[in-house]
Amino acid sequence: MCFDLRNEIENVFEISKKNVICGNGSEELIDVIARNFVGSSDEILISEFGYIQFVLAANRLNARLKKAPEKQYCTDVDALITMINPKTKLIFLANPNNPTGTAIEIDEITRLIKKMPSNIVLVLDLAYGEFVGFDYCKKIHGLVGQYENVVVTRTFSKAFGLAGLRVGWCHAPEAMMSGFYAARGMGSVNAMAQA
Ligand SMILES: *Cc1c(COP(=O)(O)O)cnc(C)c1O
Repeated sequence: MCFDLRNEIENVFEISKKNVICGNGSEELIDVIARNFVGSSDEILISEFGYIQFVLAANRLNARLKKAPEKQYCTDVDALITMINPKTKLIFLANPNNPTGTAIEIDEITRLIKKMPSNIVLVLDLAYGEFVGFDYCKKIHGLVGQYENVVVTRTFSKAFGLAGLRVGWCHAPEAMMSGFYAARGMGSVNAMAQA
């Protein structure tokens, strides 16, 4: 359950530990989230040059992956909205994205949330969020409390330089937690990584 680590995340980020699950890198959590909401006849939507793990997660589930064209290597919210259809179950969006390095403003993310059906889960990947800044990250985390279909993933791999230890975390509505724990490896975050 990563009690100590989740306690520290609660202290530092002011996010209740009840809304936090840790994983073997956020990569594991990307998989866990996808497995919770996407079946093999469903679709995952990403931005054209979205992070490679989103593609791999879709492949592992045999799900169909749709890519919304970008504008100058940047997520285009209108293109994403246009590509939503009844089979869309999940949208993965990294801000900043890897490998493009571009990020969209909070207003644009909010616009997407308001226009997309609320049965679609939006995953906001903040693996490089620290490089935009604390305020940006805090605002993105604020969306989790505001909308029941938004989750945020974070990692200690990038700004903290701990990629080799494999530890990331996800901030999500409490209602999603039991499903996430059921889909995650039981001892996936080792003691050294938690420390
Ligand atoms: C590196 C990276 C991750 C995954 O990092 P982990 O080491 O698995 O925590 C997720 N998303 C993006 C955009 C990344 O660049």
